Amino acid sequence: MVAKLTFLGAAGTVTGSKHLVENGDQRFLLDCGLFQGDRDVEERNALPLSFAPATLAAVIVSHGHLDHVGYLPKLVRDGYRGRIYCTPATAGVMQIVLEDAANLQEHLRARGFHHEAAGRTTMLYDRRDVAATMERVETIPLESPWKAAGATFRFHDAGHILGAAFVEALVGGTRLVFSGDLGRYGNTLLSDPEPLGEADVLVCESTYGDRLHEPDAEGAFERLLTAALARGGPIVLPAFAVERTQSLLVSIGMLQRKNSAFAALPVHVDSPMAIRVNELFGRFPEAHKAIAGGSPEHFGCRNLRLHVTSAESKELNHIVGPAIVIASSGMANGGRVLYHLHRRLSDPTATIVFAGYQVEGTLGRSIVDGARQVRIFGDRLAVHAHIEYFDGFSAHADQSELLRWLGTQTTKPRFYAVHGEPRAAAALCEAVHQRLGLNTVVATRGQTIEL
Ligand code: ZN
Repeated sequence: MVAKLTFLGAAGTVTGSKHLVENGDQRFLLDCGLFQGDRDVEERNALPLSFAPATLAAVIVSHGHLDHVGYLPKLVRDGYRGRIYCTPATAGVMQIVLEDAANLQEHLRARGFHHEAAGRTTMLYDRRDVAATMERVETIPLESPWKAAGATFRFHDAGHILGAAFVEALVGGTRLVFSGDLGRYGNTLLSDPEPLGEADVLVCESTYGDRLHEPDAEGAFERLLTAALARGGPIVLPAFAVERTQSLLVSIGMLQRKNSAFAALPVHVDSPMAIRVNELFGRFPEAHKAIAGGSPEHFGCRNLRLHVTSAESKELNHIVGPAIVIASSGMANGGRVLYHLHRRLSDPTATIVFAGYQVEGTLGRSIVDGARQVRIFGDRLAVHAHIEYFDGFSAHADQSELLRWLGTQTTKPRFYAVHGEPRAAAALCEAVHQRLGLNTVVATRGQTIEL
């Protein structure tokens, strides 16, 4: 019997990565993520799955971002009893990310928010479900083959975030490769993605399938911060706690050593979650490059203060003059950064730098798209701060990097683009077809293909 793959999420959208493989009577999932975005998108999280979780034999997780693991506790709550396979560093990231998601949901429920407010997750699970999920995790190092659900798997370094892998699965006679999220070449913290090699079917992310990143990211970041210093006010950087905060610290540290204008600039990380992720880098030194220039636990950054408690966070309300405040969430759809935006958005001397992809429907996206007025905590705020969008430190490969990686395939696989807005997925398919001669398809949600 021919094995089948069904795209359950991250097809036609950027989030909700979830792909079901049926191999005879064995079924497994590749990733198990949450949909994130506006209310319509997030409501998909509450819809029932097309299969009973108890009938799954395994879940394979590419990396620890919420849109790839955030549905796992719901799957376990609804009866999944198999193992969850991931790399050791991904297990660490996943625990932090899932606990944060459960805390947010419990917090919103306690405040009666659970079915409203765009950009917020409905109540799907709590911390006990996360603990039960982590008990099902089995870690597998990169490049070590293992068997589950009648298939043979292997993780390869994707260079995307700490622990991130792309997944090779031998299902029947078919070699399926799932990119998860693909990282960059020449990243300051992570290795380049491993070459792709042999594949019959390739399921590939396309987040930046229609775009190219800033070629001189460090230079552009320096110019942007120089202009922000001249405005005289604080610099707020909404940043993802996982990876983006750490790569920003590395780049700020490099600037502090290179340019005297930044040498004394105070830097604050206001995110307990980012601080936990910082510690993970210490626990998994084999999963990242060595950190240059000063103390590794501060990622080479000077004048750094970490704000853990809410009292420490509130101290930042009194900052006057230039200082960098890094806080999550990166898309401003929750987290402490909302307090900083609430306080600084109407200040014309302030600079807000959105340092990563902003999903449609999030507060970050509407500010980046030029909203003159936004609502935070029920207050209408006029946007007078200087708004910057800077994706130079993106953890995602851009179109040229995706093509570079895809060019390392050796067997002309059938190509399916997932994990991108429709225009980005279509643009990547077009480029892959033209440059590499592969047959390409933009995957749609609910579509089933034969392997
Ligand atoms: Zn990711």
